[in-house]
Amino acid sequence: MASQDWKVSLHGGHSGEFCEHATSTLREVLEGAVAFGYHTFGVSEHAPRSQERFLYRTEREKGYTIERLHREFEAYAGAVDTLAKEFEGRLIVLRGLEAEVIPTESYQEEMLGWRKRFDFDYMVGSVHYVDEISVDGEKADFDAGVAQAGGLEPYAVRYYETVAAMVEALRPDVVGHLDLIRKNANPAAALDAPSIREAAQRALAVIKQHDCILDLNTAGYRKGLGSPYPAPWLVRLADEMGVGFCFGDDSHGPSQVGEGLERAREYLIENGVSEIRVLTREAGDIVRKSVSLEE
Ligand SMILES: [Zn+2]
Ligand SMILES: [Zn+2]
Repeated sequence: MASQDWKVSLHGGHSGEFCEHATSTLREVLEGAVAFGYHTFGVSEHAPRSQERFLYRTEREKGYTIERLHREFEAYAGAVDTLAKEFEGRLIVLRGLEAEVIPTESYQEEMLGWRKRFDFDYMVGSVHYVDEISVDGEKADFDAGVAQAGGLEPYAVRYYETVAAMVEALRPDVVGHLDLIRKNANPAAALDAPSIREAAQRALAVIKQHDCILDLNTAGYRKGLGSPYPAPWLVRLADEMGVGFCFGDDSHGPSQVGEGLERAREYLIENGVSEIRVLTREAGDIVRKSVSLEE
């Protein structure tokens, strides 16, 4: 690997072709990744949801169905395979998926099934739902989730318990946006309670036990949170516990490819992290390594 080996994103590459809330084609997103100077770019399209009740409002308005989500995901798996070969020599494209934790009863089987069926290179495990209510979607849903849990503190504890359970169930290579609950929690400072810290630490212990990589996700900047996911205290705690980070630009279109990466590199260094974990492809195999965050 040459200079700027840290220019690897393992979470993102969503495209309007296969995701209703993204823009452009996958090819355009990958051209954006080449233009940005990524060495390796992991594409982690959303695994399809399996029940009508989980369709987003915007999807309903456009007449999306579960069948369509499935059809598009199958098309995605074929397209990313073809494009990974086509971009060889310009960009190492990893073929991945972003897993969900819904429905609670069957997500493990469904997500592991998708991974196996298309022989994906890797998996990002994300918690976008607590007890089947959306965390990062509409604020009204988040508020309903908080009310159901009996307040923000028990809600946040439940969220981190869900992260730990997801890691046990899916053994993902990468854990997505660890403190996604910051997005809708107002003020985010309310998440700074001992019980929440302890729950986060327990989740990190499970992440460490299964040797997962944490997604340093630059979407936090985009959402106006002032820092990426996870927050500084979680970065320092994870680092102390020996859990490594990778970058994720969480791009949902070419204009977001590489966005915030340089800033996130400085953020990690400021919080005491000197190396970044990467997955890449060498001689046909997916390998994992640590590279310096220095230029
Ligand atoms: Zn998305
Ligand atoms: Zn996500």
